[in-house]
Amino acid sequence: MSENGGEKPKAGLLKRLFSWGESAPSPAVPEPSPAREAPPAPIAAAVPEALEAAPAPAPKRSWLSRLTSGLSRSSSAIGRGIVDIFTKRKLDAASLDDLEDVLIQADLGVGAATRIREAVGKGRYEKGIDPDDVKALLAAEVERTLTPVARPLIVDAAKRPFVILVIGVNGSGKTTTIGKLAAKFVGEGQKVMVAAGDTFRAAAIEQLRIWAGRAGAAIVAREQGGDAAGLAFDAVTRARAEDIDVLLMDTAGRLQNRAELMSELEKIIRVMKKVDAEAPHATLLVLDATVGQNALSQVEIFGRMAGVTGLVMTKLDGTARGGILVAIADKFKLPVHFIGVGEGVEDLEPFAARDFARAIAGVEDEE
Ligand code: GDP
Ligand code: GDP
Ligand code: MG
Repeated sequence: MSENGGEKPKAGLLKRLFSWGESAPSPAVPEPSPAREAPPAPIAAAVPEALEAAPAPAPKRSWLSRLTSGLSRSSSAIGRGIVDIFTKRKLDAASLDDLEDVLIQADLGVGAATRIREAVGKGRYEKGIDPDDVKALLAAEVERTLTPVARPLIVDAAKRPFVILVIGVNGSGKTTTIGKLAAKFVGEGQKVMVAAGDTFRAAAIEQLRIWAGRAGAAIVAREQGGDAAGLAFDAVTRARAEDIDVLLMDTAGRLQNRAELMSELEKIIRVMKKVDAEAPHATLLVLDATVGQNALSQVEIFGRMAGVTGLVMTKLDGTARGGILVAIADKFKLPVHFIGVGEGVEDLEPFAARDFARAIAGVEDEE
């Protein structure tokens, strides 16, 4: 697939390398010129031999334990509610109403809250129910809701460059997610390019440069204030000429209710199609979990304007509003490819319905 396939580094090593963050020896420092050549051997540059023997940093906690602690503000709010309702109380319409309220307050949405209420109530009226059993039923229903949307982002090797457009509101985590994804793809042996489509702020271009340098990805950028659609045209053209496998296009954050910025997004897409009629091959909407209900309107409007093909939800570490993912899955049925639980390069994982469901319900895994 990629001519770099033979040099594929070990994932573990990459993880260790990137978990050092800024202290990691950076690959060739990118020059400010937008016409800069792609690094000739990005993978080799990202993983210098000498690092093999370097001491490992303090071991990172497992993914699942980070997810569980990340979602603990969500799960403890729900868990406290469940314990309050079902300790020393019979299961009846009033206690089920209270349960539904707790779930709606946790942003799971009315649909899921109603289904969970029914699952808990079924055959148990006027009997006691253990709070742990309620949590298990909650986990099962959340898992059932999320399983159909938990779908991997598949990069079709027949489409080269595979163009991934990354959109969302300001601060949702677009640039960070692109950096994490670039590192992931490079780690899989793909030849990666990123395009600094947030031309509004110089800092945004610099931020992407740093991520690209760390990941060993090429970067296409223009001066601050440049035309984002023009940059998109250049990026797809160059990615094609340079035999890039995956092109990740960053964009400026825009509020879903600002018509002129949304039409700029349409223009970016239109211009990409001039180079490759099928581009973008994926359009990822990055959602910040901490915004809660507003995420629903973001999915709706970005979906309508830009044809979102999949979602990434960031900042699931430390929010009490993680339940919104359940409401989004219910309402839009869009694939959820990845979730972010931190700012580091390793803090992005493919979305797994069961892990998420058990973490948010506060159900411990026995094994
Ligand atoms: P953009 O404006 O959409 O490009 O957002 P950025 O990628 O610049 O991210 C905005 C802020 O959110 C930065 O400080 C990131 O480090 C932070 N961030 C991004 N993803 C996550 C995440 O999953 N967890 C946490 N805690 N912070 C994140
Ligand atoms: P317009 O600015 O509304 O007319 O939108 P266009 O779709 O014509 O193009 C938007 C931007 O994409 C332009 O400003 C150019 O920077 C870039 N672009 C579009 N087509 C071409 C092309 O054929 N060659 C080059 N180099 N850039 C193009
Ligand atoms: Mg950004």
